[in-house]
Amino acid sequence: EALQGLLLARIRDVPDYPKPGVMFKDITPLLADPAAFEALTDALAELCTRHGATKVVGLEARGFILGAPAAIRAGLGFVPVRKAGKLPGATLAQAYELEYGTAEIEVHAEDLVPGDRVMVIDDVLATGGTAEASLQLIRRAGAEIAGVAVLMELAFLNGRDRLTPTLAGGPVEAL
Ligand code: IMP
Repeated sequence: EALQGLLLARIRDVPDYPKPGVMFKDITPLLADPAAFEALTDALAELCTRHGATKVVGLEARGFILGAPAAIRAGLGFVPVRKAGKLPGATLAQAYELEYGTAEIEVHAEDLVPGDRVMVIDDVLATGGTAEASLQLIRRAGAEIAGVAVLMELAFLNGRDRLTPTLAGGPVEAL
């Protein structure tokens, strides 16, 4: 597909980053190309509309860069999910497992309420740990989940399967 070709051509593979054996997918060339960035924004916004989202959650940090313009394009509000300790107001927090140890993410409690239908946006779905923790936050806030939309899925890590129980049939869209 034309969109896939445009996006793939602007993603850089960086070997051994951030550590040996990891092939890092770098999206900065895509962000620097206005035609590619706009096409990505339009495609993410269309997924929000198609799945009936009323709000966009972006995951720190690249989920902010992709999620915010997509939210505006779709006519929706944007809610940041941040690493623990960054949000000044009352938060809901969710811990999750990393390869070594644990991490924690937070959202402002007042930003997600019952009646919201939320699309989660990030750049890369890898093991699914980050996205899964964000889905738990959304559910605990009493909001509904419209789906998860990412630029790229590292399918060999099976992150999609990790999301299945919480998504309960909801879509995982990888452009
Ligand atoms: P997961 O929790 O293992 O699914 O990792 C996903 C999170 O790590 C996302 O927030 C991504 O931004 C980041 N991430 C993992 N691998 C890559 C990569 O190759 N390129 C860019 N970000 C990545």
